[in-house]
Amino acid sequence: MASLITEGRAGAPGPHAGIAGAGLLGRLLAWWLAGRGWRVTVFDPAAGPQARGAAGWTAAGMLSPYAELECADTRVAALGVRSLQLWQDIVARLPGEVDFRRSGSLLVAHAADLGAARRLIDLLQAKAIDEACPQPLAPAALRALEPAIHGPAHAWLLEQEGQIHTVQAMQALAEGATQRGVSWCWGRSVRSVLPGRLVCDDGEHRYDWVFDVRGVGARPELPVRGVRGEIFWLHAPGVPLGRPVRLLHPRWRVYLVPRPGDLVVVGASEIESEDRSPVSLRSTLALLSAAHSVVPELAEARIVHSEANLRPALPDNLPGLQSSAGLTRINGLFRHGWLIAPALVEQAVAGIEQPQHQELLS
Ligand SMILES: Cc1cc2nc3c(=O)[nH]c(=O)nc-3n(C[C@H](O)[C@H](O)[C@H](O)COP(=O)(O)OP(=O)(O)OC[C@H]3O[C@@H](n4cnc5c(N)ncnc54)[C@H](O)[C@@H]3O)c2cc1C
Repeated sequence: MASLITEGRAGAPGPHAGIAGAGLLGRLLAWWLAGRGWRVTVFDPAAGPQARGAAGWTAAGMLSPYAELECADTRVAALGVRSLQLWQDIVARLPGEVDFRRSGSLLVAHAADLGAARRLIDLLQAKAIDEACPQPLAPAALRALEPAIHGPAHAWLLEQEGQIHTVQAMQALAEGATQRGVSWCWGRSVRSVLPGRLVCDDGEHRYDWVFDVRGVGARPELPVRGVRGEIFWLHAPGVPLGRPVRLLHPRWRVYLVPRPGDLVVVGASEIESEDRSPVSLRSTLALLSAAHSVVPELAEARIVHSEANLRPALPDNLPGLQSSAGLTRINGLFRHGWLIAPALVEQAVAGIEQPQHQELLS
């Protein structure tokens, strides 16, 4: 397949970018810009590349442009479709192992919840892009596809969807960016982001272009808030699951995402709170009971990890990309960061490298 990402510039050293934030967007931008010949310096208050403050680490990594239409618009879905193509290309170029799959995803519902499920299926069909509608699966077809699923009576397949191992990808993006010459300033908070300038505690740093990708840390420049999400990692040897599964439930949004090493990630709560404390008893009961109702064999799984983090969201819960001379801000990736980040980065960089900005960058 032809590559989707163009790299390298001939001639003089490229422009210098300063990036505030080394989460999902910061790492991807750094890797992307360095591949296009930019010099890149990244600032983040985290202690180092493995410190897990960013929401990017916590995410389950569902790449669901169609299912996410429940709480997003068709622009997000289109960014997701483009990003699925880009991830394939990106993962192939990153160092180390990054589990990325496009085996589709399943929507399932218990018999009693068919009414609530139908409402969502109708909504997805009405908003469908690329004619990608959920395909109903007969019980025998579901059994053949996912023998571990027993509880739900109804199932639909979204063939085009995918998943990415977020922990592996966060590590590989940092490593790949480092290999491309990116400089990291760990333990350094950026107080303010102005055109061509990052203001830190030790003073001002000047760049040809700066990027504000601080997620929840971008206040007060942006009206961003954090939306708490909690997840669990279950170790479930002998429980085969080939693709992400979402339970369509009248009260909860619950999904199960398989990962290598017999792991299943179960998520996620969505709570209007910036509380980062450990997962609550209520969320534990709700998420794990729901997961068990879909895959009863999970009863003997071991809970090996749980985690809470904040999704950065703008007031309309939609992503925002603002660019003016010398400054680009990207934020509000909310529930869809992994789904849409590559396409947003592609758009942002293409906008900056257009002819009207060349003078500023030379
Ligand atoms: C439980 C949960 C499940 C999720 N599941 C999915 C999923 O399945 N699919 C999906 O697509 N998305 C998912 N997401 C959403 C996704 O993780 C986010 O949308 C994405 O991480 C946002 O990326 P970001 O780079 O904007 O923010 P982050 O990844 O949070 O990174 C922000 C970075 O900015 C840094 N920072 C903060 N303040 C400053 C400062 N003053 N100076 C410098 N740096 C600063 C932080 O330390 C951090 O490293 C999930 C999120 C959560 C919490």
